[in-house]
Amino acid sequence: MSLPPVPLKIHRSPEALVITWEEGHEGVYPYRMLRLACRCAGCREEMTDRQLLDPAAISPEVKAEAVELVGSYAIKISWDDGHDTGIYTYEYLLSLCPCQRCKQPAPES
Ligand SMILES: [Zn+2]
Ligand SMILES: [Zn+2]
Repeated sequence: MSLPPVPLKIHRSPEALVITWEEGHEGVYPYRMLRLACRCAGCREEMTDRQLLDPAAISPEVKAEAVELVGSYAIKISWDDGHDTGIYTYEYLLSLCPCQRCKQPAPES
């Protein structure tokens, strides 16, 4: 069993949440992308994984107002549209990481 991934640093930039992972890569997560990826019961149906959230209802300007650590495995994001029930596990965030390294398969050496 491998250890869950851990962010070294979580930083709120004006446009995006920037997570520095201990494996040596940095994910820049645009706020709207993260807001749409919310997996709380109000945004996503648990049984079917169907998205309940209407992307058109989310402002392109949506921003994270606060980021709270949840135990040692997740963060909770409070959005400026009043939504604050979304828990993002580190594992989930890592799977969403938009950095070059995560988006592209490792080059054959
Ligand atoms: Zn949600
Ligand atoms: Zn990455």
